[in-house]
Amino acid sequence: MRQPLIAGNWKMNGNRSSVETLLSNVINGASTISKTEVVVCPSFPFLDLSERLLSGTSIKLGAQNTSTKESGAYTGEVSASMLANFGCQYVICGHSERREYYGETDAIIAEKVSICVEKGMRAILCVGETLNQREQEQTESVISTQLDGVITQIGIDIFNNIEIAYEPVWAIGTGKTATPEQAQSVHAFIRQKIASHSLVIAEKIRILYGGSMKAENACDLLSQSDIDGGLIGGASLVANDFLAICRAGD
Ligand code: PEP
Repeated sequence: MRQPLIAGNWKMNGNRSSVETLLSNVINGASTISKTEVVVCPSFPFLDLSERLLSGTSIKLGAQNTSTKESGAYTGEVSASMLANFGCQYVICGHSERREYYGETDAIIAEKVSICVEKGMRAILCVGETLNQREQEQTESVISTQLDGVITQIGIDIFNNIEIAYEPVWAIGTGKTATPEQAQSVHAFIRQKIASHSLVIAEKIRILYGGSMKAENACDLLSQSDIDGGLIGGASLVANDFLAICRAGD
């Protein structure tokens, strides 16, 4: 039985005061959530504040990105060791926005996944196709290539320590959600792909759905047999909406 996981990706949003309010509201509301593992991923400047606010709660802290470098002369970068030092237990790797706007390749993403796990955190590896790729019926081949980036560079065993998020690019921040059937079919494909390397890992690994998941569609998506949780963008910025999704996972 896989424990549901709901992770909020706050992206580049917030300030001291809004982060404090959002997190306090999430913390208060989360006391009624029993089964679902809840993670929030603020921007780097808010990790310290968030770590302090989350102390003593069951909500976990995550980051949205990491450097592939350990330390040194890499101006503007934030290392995985620093993230771990600030209490991060999860790191989102390979989000489509990073692939698209910052040129992250499968090789770079594999390095990021590897360094996060090396530092004792779990990576949330994002994969997903664009609308054009879906229309060209390339969804499975695109996702297969994205997964192979990690499988061939690091090996299948790393999947013991990571989550996969299926995030169709056409559904991210667009209000368009994959239907539960569309999402389930890709999740099943991802699990089969992992199973072709390790049945044990395939059974255990959590595959999250991301792409305009909200309170209204969360139950239908999360009731699919291969959907083990969600990576939530926009709706994670509103405490009640995020909490409603967490409860749908419960
Ligand atoms: C995301 O960016 O990971 C995401 C799923 O965003 P949204 O929920 O806003 O589509």
